[in-house]
Amino acid sequence: MSLLSDLINLDLTSTTEKIIAEYIWIGGSGMDMRSKARTLSVPVTEPQKLPKWNYDGSSTGQAPGQDSEVILYPQAIFKDPFRRGNNILVMCDAYTPAGDPIPTNKRYQAAKIFNDPKVVEEETWFGIEQEYTLLQKDVNWPLGWPVGGFPGPQGPYYCSAGADKSFGRDIVDSHYKACLYAGINISGINGEVMPGQWEFQVGPSVGISAGDQLWMARYILERITEIAGVVLTFDPKPIPGDWNGAGAHTNYSTKSMREDGGYEVIKKAIEKMGLRHKEHIAAYGEGNERRLTGRHETADINTFSWGVANRGASIRVGRDTEKDRKGYFEDRRPSSNMDPYVVTSMVAETTLLLP
Ligand code: ADP
Ligand code: MN
Ligand code: MN
Ligand code: MN
Repeated sequence: MSLLSDLINLDLTSTTEKIIAEYIWIGGSGMDMRSKARTLSVPVTEPQKLPKWNYDGSSTGQAPGQDSEVILYPQAIFKDPFRRGNNILVMCDAYTPAGDPIPTNKRYQAAKIFNDPKVVEEETWFGIEQEYTLLQKDVNWPLGWPVGGFPGPQGPYYCSAGADKSFGRDIVDSHYKACLYAGINISGINGEVMPGQWEFQVGPSVGISAGDQLWMARYILERITEIAGVVLTFDPKPIPGDWNGAGAHTNYSTKSMREDGGYEVIKKAIEKMGLRHKEHIAAYGEGNERRLTGRHETADINTFSWGVANRGASIRVGRDTEKDRKGYFEDRRPSSNMDPYVVTSMVAETTLLLP
Protein backbone atom coordinates (compact mmCIF):
# COMPACT_ATOMS: atom_id res chain seq x y z
CA MET A 1 0.00 0.00 0.00
CA SER A 2 2.76 2.45 0.88
CA LEU A 3 4.67 1.60 -2.31
CA LEU A 4 1.55 2.41 -4.30
CA SER A 5 1.10 5.77 -2.64
CA ASP A 6 4.84 6.45 -3.01
CA LEU A 7 4.55 5.82 -6.72
CA ILE A 8 1.41 7.86 -7.19
CA ASN A 9 3.13 10.75 -5.41
CA LEU A 10 6.37 10.44 -7.45
CA ASP A 11 7.73 13.89 -8.19
CA LEU A 12 8.62 13.92 -11.88
CA THR A 13 10.23 17.36 -11.91
CA SER A 14 13.70 16.14 -10.89
CA THR A 15 13.70 13.36 -13.49
CA THR A 16 12.13 14.76 -16.63
CA GLU A 17 10.87 17.98 -18.25
CA LYS A 18 7.88 16.03 -19.49
CA ILE A 19 4.48 16.71 -17.97
CA ILE A 20 1.08 15.03 -17.92
CA ALA A 21 -1.90 16.97 -19.26
CA GLU A 22 -5.38 15.71 -18.39
CA TYR A 23 -7.77 16.87 -21.14
CA ILE A 24 -11.30 17.29 -19.78
CA TRP A 25 -14.54 17.71 -21.70
CA ILE A 26 -18.30 17.49 -21.30
CA GLY A 27 -19.93 14.31 -22.61
CA GLY A 28 -23.17 13.61 -24.43
CA SER A 29 -25.60 14.05 -21.54
CA GLY A 30 -24.33 17.61 -21.10
CA MET A 31 -23.53 16.75 -17.49
CA ASP A 32 -21.09 13.80 -17.65
CA MET A 33 -17.45 14.82 -17.51
CA ARG A 34 -14.88 12.83 -19.42
CA SER A 35 -11.10 13.04 -19.48
CA LYS A 36 -7.95 11.39 -20.74
CA ALA A 37 -4.28 12.11 -20.27
CA ARG A 38 -1.30 12.65 -22.54
CA THR A 39 2.38 13.37 -22.12
CA LEU A 40 3.78 16.70 -23.28
CA SER A 41 7.52 17.16 -23.84
CA VAL A 42 7.78 20.40 -21.83
CA PRO A 43 5.60 22.32 -19.35
CA VAL A 44 2.88 24.49 -20.92
CA THR A 45 0.97 27.31 -19.24
CA GLU A 46 -1.06 28.81 -22.10
CA PRO A 47 -3.95 26.93 -23.74
CA GLN A 48 -3.04 28.25 -27.21
CA LYS A 49 0.28 26.38 -26.95
CA LEU A 50 -1.39 23.03 -26.31
CA PRO A 51 -2.08 20.60 -29.14
CA LYS A 52 -5.66 19.85 -30.16
CA TRP A 53 -6.66 16.26 -29.51
CA ASN A 54 -9.49 13.89 -30.36
CA TYR A 55 -11.71 11.27 -28.80
CA ASP A 56 -14.21 8.63 -29.80
CA GLY A 57 -17.52 10.49 -29.80
CA SER A 58 -19.48 7.29 -30.41
CA SER A 59 -18.57 6.22 -26.86
CA THR A 60 -19.92 9.41 -25.27
CA GLY A 61 -23.15 9.73 -27.28
CA GLN A 62 -21.67 12.57 -29.33
CA ALA A 63 -20.98 11.08 -32.77
CA PRO A 64 -22.12 8.19 -34.98
CA GLY A 65 -19.90 5.07 -35.04
CA GLN A 66 -18.94 5.36 -38.71
CA ASP A 67 -17.63 8.92 -38.28
CA SER A 68 -16.78 9.02 -34.61
CA GLU A 69 -13.94 11.50 -34.29
CA VAL A 70 -14.55 14.58 -32.14
CA ILE A 71 -11.82 17.22 -31.79
CA LEU A 72 -10.86 18.79 -28.46
CA TYR A 73 -9.75 22.42 -28.41
CA PRO A 74 -7.88 23.33 -25.19
CA GLN A 75 -9.45 26.44 -23.63
CA ALA A 76 -8.23 26.87 -20.06
CA ILE A 77 -5.37 25.45 -17.99
CA PHE A 78 -5.38 24.65 -14.28
CA LYS A 79 -2.72 23.14 -12.03
CA ASP A 80 -3.35 19.46 -11.36
CA PRO A 81 -3.85 18.92 -7.60
CA PHE A 82 -3.77 15.14 -8.05
CA ARG A 83 -0.49 14.78 -9.96
CA ARG A 84 0.97 18.13 -8.79
CA GLY A 85 4.40 19.26 -10.10
CA ASN A 86 4.05 20.94 -13.49
CA ASN A 87 1.19 18.66 -14.47
CA ILE A 88 -2.01 20.31 -15.64
CA LEU A 89 -5.78 19.93 -16.05
CA VAL A 90 -7.06 21.28 -19.35
CA MET A 91 -10.67 22.38 -19.89
CA CYS A 92 -11.60 21.71 -23.52
CA ASP A 93 -14.57 22.19 -25.81
CA ALA A 94 -15.51 19.91 -28.68
CA TYR A 95 -15.74 20.31 -32.47
CA THR A 96 -16.32 18.22 -35.57
CA PRO A 97 -13.27 17.58 -37.76
CA ALA A 98 -14.63 20.32 -40.07
CA GLY A 99 -14.33 22.80 -37.18
CA ASP A 100 -17.99 23.22 -36.21
CA PRO A 101 -18.92 23.11 -32.51
CA ILE A 102 -20.81 19.88 -31.73
CA PRO A 103 -24.34 20.30 -30.25
CA THR A 104 -23.22 19.78 -26.62
CA ASN A 105 -20.55 22.47 -26.98
CA LYS A 106 -22.30 25.29 -25.11
CA ARG A 107 -19.03 27.12 -24.54
CA TYR A 108 -18.72 28.17 -28.16
CA GLN A 109 -21.91 30.27 -28.19
CA ALA A 110 -21.19 31.62 -24.71
CA ALA A 111 -17.70 32.77 -25.76
CA LYS A 112 -19.27 34.66 -28.66
CA ILE A 113 -21.47 36.60 -26.24
CA PHE A 114 -18.61 37.25 -23.84
CA ASN A 115 -16.42 38.48 -26.71
CA ASP A 116 -19.02 41.04 -27.79
CA PRO A 117 -17.41 44.47 -27.19
CA LYS A 118 -20.50 45.66 -25.24
CA VAL A 119 -20.12 42.73 -22.85
CA VAL A 120 -16.32 43.00 -22.60
CA GLU A 121 -16.63 46.67 -21.71
CA GLU A 122 -19.00 45.88 -18.82
CA GLU A 123 -16.62 43.34 -17.18
CA THR A 124 -19.32 40.87 -16.17
CA TRP A 125 -18.67 39.17 -12.84
CA PHE A 126 -20.28 35.90 -11.78
CA GLY A 127 -20.34 34.19 -8.41
CA ILE A 128 -21.89 30.75 -8.68
CA GLU A 129 -23.05 28.83 -5.61
CA GLN A 130 -22.83 25.18 -6.54
CA GLU A 131 -24.93 22.94 -4.30
CA TYR A 132 -24.50 19.17 -4.48
CA THR A 133 -25.38 15.99 -2.63
CA LEU A 134 -23.13 13.15 -1.53
CA LEU A 135 -24.56 9.63 -1.73
CA GLN A 136 -23.49 6.36 -0.22
CA LYS A 137 -22.18 4.11 -2.97
CA ASP A 138 -24.29 1.05 -3.91
CA VAL A 139 -27.42 2.23 -2.12
CA ASN A 140 -27.51 5.75 -3.66
CA TRP A 141 -28.87 7.21 -0.45
CA PRO A 142 -27.46 10.44 1.08
CA LEU A 143 -24.31 10.27 3.15
CA GLY A 144 -25.06 10.05 6.87
CA TRP A 145 -28.64 8.86 6.33
CA PRO A 146 -29.67 5.48 7.78
CA VAL A 147 -29.99 3.01 4.90
CA GLY A 148 -33.69 2.40 4.24
CA GLY A 149 -34.68 5.24 6.58
CA PHE A 150 -34.58 8.97 7.19
CA PRO A 151 -32.67 11.28 9.51
CA GLY A 152 -34.44 13.73 11.80
CA PRO A 153 -36.11 16.69 10.07
CA GLN A 154 -34.13 19.61 8.64
CA GLY A 155 -32.99 22.29 11.03
CA PRO A 156 -29.79 21.23 12.79
CA TYR A 157 -27.72 20.45 9.67
CA TYR A 158 -27.12 23.79 7.86
CA CYS A 159 -23.54 25.01 8.55
CA SER A 160 -23.33 22.46 11.37
CA ALA A 161 -20.54 20.54 13.06
CA GLY A 162 -20.75 17.15 14.76
CA ALA A 163 -20.83 13.50 13.80
CA ASP A 164 -24.65 13.38 13.95
CA LYS A 165 -25.15 16.45 11.74
CA SER A 166 -22.29 16.98 9.29
CA PHE A 167 -21.45 14.27 6.78
CA GLY A 168 -18.54 14.33 4.32
CA ARG A 169 -16.43 17.24 5.51
CA ASP A 170 -13.16 15.49 4.54
CA ILE A 171 -14.36 15.47 0.92
CA VAL A 172 -15.55 19.08 1.07
CA ASP A 173 -12.34 20.40 2.57
CA SER A 174 -10.09 18.36 0.24
CA HIS A 175 -12.03 19.83 -2.63
CA TYR A 176 -11.73 23.38 -1.27
CA LYS A 177 -7.93 23.15 -1.05
CA ALA A 178 -7.57 21.28 -4.34
CA CYS A 179 -9.51 24.05 -6.11
CA LEU A 180 -7.32 26.76 -4.59
CA TYR A 181 -4.26 24.78 -5.66
CA ALA A 182 -5.63 24.42 -9.19
CA GLY A 183 -6.08 28.18 -9.51
CA ILE A 184 -9.86 28.17 -9.32
CA ASN A 185 -11.31 31.29 -7.73
CA ILE A 186 -13.28 29.31 -5.13
CA SER A 187 -14.67 31.74 -2.57
CA GLY A 188 -16.09 29.48 0.11
CA ILE A 189 -17.92 26.33 1.19
CA ASN A 190 -20.78 25.56 3.56
CA GLY A 191 -22.90 22.69 4.81
CA GLU A 192 -26.47 22.79 3.49
CA VAL A 193 -29.96 22.45 4.96
CA MET A 194 -30.42 18.84 3.85
CA PRO A 195 -27.96 16.51 5.58
CA GLY A 196 -25.35 15.19 3.13
CA GLN A 197 -25.77 18.29 0.98
CA TRP A 198 -23.03 20.91 0.60
CA GLU A 199 -22.21 24.04 -1.33
CA PHE A 200 -19.11 25.65 -2.78
CA GLN A 201 -18.92 29.05 -4.43
CA VAL A 202 -16.81 30.04 -7.43
CA GLY A 203 -16.26 33.72 -8.10
CA PRO A 204 -16.44 36.53 -8.66
CA SER A 205 -14.99 35.38 -11.99
CA VAL A 206 -15.05 37.37 -15.18
CA GLY A 207 -17.05 36.34 -18.26
CA ILE A 208 -16.39 32.90 -19.74
CA SER A 209 -13.85 32.05 -17.02
CA ALA A 210 -16.73 31.55 -14.56
CA GLY A 211 -17.95 28.62 -16.68
CA ASP A 212 -14.46 27.18 -17.14
CA GLN A 213 -13.77 27.38 -13.41
CA LEU A 214 -17.11 25.93 -12.32
CA TRP A 215 -16.78 22.98 -14.69
CA MET A 216 -13.23 22.33 -13.49
CA ALA A 217 -14.34 22.55 -9.85
CA ARG A 218 -17.06 19.98 -10.64
CA TYR A 219 -14.48 17.71 -12.28
CA ILE A 220 -12.16 17.92 -9.26
CA LEU A 221 -15.10 17.07 -7.00
CA GLU A 222 -15.92 14.02 -9.14
CA ARG A 223 -12.31 12.87 -8.77
CA ILE A 224 -12.23 13.39 -5.00
CA THR A 225 -15.54 11.62 -4.41
CA GLU A 226 -14.22 8.79 -6.60
CA ILE A 227 -11.22 8.42 -4.25
CA ALA A 228 -13.52 8.55 -1.22
CA GLY A 229 -15.89 5.93 -2.67
CA VAL A 230 -18.81 8.34 -2.41
CA VAL A 231 -21.24 9.15 -5.23
CA LEU A 232 -21.71 12.76 -6.28
CA THR A 233 -25.07 13.93 -7.62
CA PHE A 234 -26.11 17.30 -9.02
CA ASP A 235 -29.77 16.30 -9.13
CA PRO A 236 -31.84 19.39 -8.25
CA LYS A 237 -34.13 17.44 -5.90
CA PRO A 238 -32.35 14.24 -4.88
CA ILE A 239 -34.93 13.32 -2.23
CA PRO A 240 -38.58 14.23 -2.84
CA GLY A 241 -40.68 15.68 -0.05
CA ASP A 242 -39.71 17.91 2.82
CA TRP A 243 -36.01 18.04 1.93
CA ASN A 244 -34.27 21.00 0.32
CA GLY A 245 -33.30 20.75 -3.33
CA ALA A 246 -29.96 21.73 -4.82
CA GLY A 247 -29.46 24.89 -6.83
CA ALA A 248 -26.75 26.94 -8.45
CA HIS A 249 -27.60 30.52 -7.46
CA THR A 250 -25.88 32.82 -9.93
CA ASN A 251 -24.69 36.16 -8.58
CA TYR A 252 -24.09 38.75 -11.25
CA SER A 253 -22.85 42.28 -11.72
CA THR A 254 -21.60 44.57 -14.45
CA LYS A 255 -19.22 47.47 -14.15
CA SER A 256 -22.15 49.92 -14.22
CA MET A 257 -23.91 48.01 -11.43
CA ARG A 258 -20.80 48.16 -9.25
CA GLU A 259 -20.36 51.91 -9.75
CA ASP A 260 -22.33 54.81 -8.26
CA GLY A 261 -25.86 54.82 -9.67
CA GLY A 262 -25.62 51.05 -10.00
CA TYR A 263 -28.88 50.35 -8.20
CA GLU A 264 -30.90 51.86 -11.06
CA VAL A 265 -28.94 49.73 -13.53
CA ILE A 266 -29.65 46.65 -11.42
CA LYS A 267 -33.40 47.35 -11.35
CA LYS A 268 -33.52 47.81 -15.13
CA ALA A 269 -31.55 44.59 -15.63
CA ILE A 270 -33.93 42.65 -13.36
CA GLU A 271 -36.87 43.98 -15.35
CA LYS A 272 -35.28 42.60 -18.54
CA MET A 273 -34.66 39.29 -16.80
CA GLY A 274 -38.38 39.11 -15.96
CA LEU A 275 -39.37 39.47 -19.61
CA ARG A 276 -37.38 36.35 -20.50
CA HIS A 277 -38.41 34.21 -17.51
CA LYS A 278 -39.75 31.33 -19.62
CA GLU A 279 -36.65 31.08 -21.86
CA HIS A 280 -34.38 31.23 -18.84
CA ILE A 281 -36.27 28.53 -16.93
CA ALA A 282 -36.13 26.27 -20.00
CA ALA A 283 -32.32 26.58 -20.00
CA TYR A 284 -31.64 26.57 -16.27
CA GLY A 285 -31.35 22.81 -15.74
CA GLU A 286 -33.09 19.47 -16.15
CA GLY A 287 -35.66 18.55 -13.48
CA ASN A 288 -35.73 22.03 -12.00
CA GLU A 289 -39.54 21.83 -11.80
CA ARG A 290 -39.11 19.31 -8.96
CA ARG A 291 -37.10 21.93 -7.07
CA LEU A 292 -38.78 25.28 -7.84
CA THR A 293 -41.98 24.61 -5.95
CA GLY A 294 -42.28 27.86 -4.02
CA ARG A 295 -41.22 26.03 -0.87
CA HIS A 296 -37.79 25.32 0.67
CA GLU A 297 -36.37 28.77 -0.14
CA THR A 298 -37.40 28.71 -3.80
CA ALA A 299 -39.80 30.69 -5.98
CA ASP A 300 -42.55 28.98 -7.96
CA ILE A 301 -41.25 27.97 -11.40
CA ASN A 302 -44.07 29.72 -13.29
CA THR A 303 -43.86 33.12 -11.63
CA PHE A 304 -41.09 35.68 -11.87
CA SER A 305 -40.49 37.76 -8.77
CA TRP A 306 -37.72 39.75 -7.17
CA GLY A 307 -37.09 41.31 -3.81
CA VAL A 308 -34.54 42.65 -1.38
CA ALA A 309 -33.29 39.92 0.97
CA ASN A 310 -36.12 37.65 -0.20
CA ARG A 311 -35.03 34.02 -0.45
CA GLY A 312 -38.45 33.07 -1.79
CA ALA A 313 -38.00 35.25 -4.90
CA SER A 314 -36.64 34.32 -8.35
CA ILE A 315 -34.07 37.11 -8.02
CA ARG A 316 -32.77 38.42 -4.73
CA VAL A 317 -31.00 41.72 -4.15
CA GLY A 318 -28.86 41.80 -1.04
CA ARG A 319 -29.41 44.30 1.79
CA ASP A 320 -25.93 45.72 1.21
CA THR A 321 -26.64 46.37 -2.46
CA GLU A 322 -29.82 48.23 -1.55
CA LYS A 323 -28.05 50.22 1.16
CA ASP A 324 -24.96 51.03 -0.97
CA ARG A 325 -27.13 51.81 -4.02
CA LYS A 326 -24.79 49.60 -6.08
CA GLY A 327 -23.57 46.01 -6.16
CA TYR A 328 -25.03 42.83 -7.66
CA PHE A 329 -28.07 40.59 -7.81
CA GLU A 330 -28.61 36.87 -7.30
CA ASP A 331 -30.56 34.73 -9.76
CA ARG A 332 -31.83 31.92 -7.52
CA ARG A 333 -33.51 29.92 -10.27
CA PRO A 334 -30.66 27.90 -11.88
CA SER A 335 -30.55 24.30 -10.67
CA SER A 336 -27.46 22.48 -9.46
CA ASN A 337 -27.14 20.63 -12.79
CA MET A 338 -27.27 23.75 -14.95
CA ASP A 339 -24.59 24.44 -17.53
CA PRO A 340 -22.72 27.55 -16.34
CA TYR A 341 -21.77 28.43 -19.93
CA VAL A 342 -25.47 28.61 -20.80
CA VAL A 343 -26.64 30.44 -17.68
CA THR A 344 -23.87 33.06 -17.48
CA SER A 345 -24.01 33.91 -21.17
CA MET A 346 -27.81 34.11 -21.10
CA VAL A 347 -27.75 36.53 -18.18
CA ALA A 348 -25.13 38.69 -19.92
CA GLU A 349 -27.04 38.60 -23.20
CA THR A 350 -30.38 39.44 -21.56
CA THR A 351 -29.04 42.34 -19.53
CA LEU A 352 -26.52 43.81 -22.02
CA LEU A 353 -27.37 42.83 -25.59
CA LEU A 354 -31.13 42.50 -25.86
CA PRO A 355 -33.24 45.67 -26.33
P1 ADP B 1 -25.57 33.53 -0.36
O1 ADP B 1 -25.65 34.61 0.65
O2 ADP B 1 -26.67 33.62 -1.35
O3 ADP B 1 -25.44 32.16 0.25
P2 ADP B 1 -22.75 33.16 -1.13
O4 ADP B 1 -21.91 33.89 -0.17
O5 ADP B 1 -22.85 31.70 -1.01
O6 ADP B 1 -24.22 33.86 -1.18
O7 ADP B 1 -22.23 33.44 -2.63
C1 ADP B 1 -22.16 34.71 -3.18
C2 ADP B 1 -21.25 34.68 -4.38
O8 ADP B 1 -21.34 35.94 -5.04
C3 ADP B 1 -19.77 34.50 -4.03
O9 ADP B 1 -19.17 33.60 -4.93
C4 ADP B 1 -19.20 35.89 -4.21
O10 ADP B 1 -17.84 35.86 -4.58
C5 ADP B 1 -20.06 36.40 -5.36
N1 ADP B 1 -20.07 37.88 -5.48
C6 ADP B 1 -19.76 38.82 -4.57
N2 ADP B 1 -19.84 40.05 -5.08
C7 ADP B 1 -20.20 39.92 -6.38
C8 ADP B 1 -20.44 40.83 -7.45
N3 ADP B 1 -20.32 42.16 -7.28
N4 ADP B 1 -20.79 40.33 -8.66
C9 ADP B 1 -20.94 39.01 -8.82
N5 ADP B 1 -20.71 38.11 -7.86
C10 ADP B 1 -20.36 38.54 -6.64
MN1 MN C 1 -24.55 30.44 -0.60
MN1 MN D 1 -26.99 27.35 -0.49
MN1 MN E 1 -27.50 32.15 -2.61
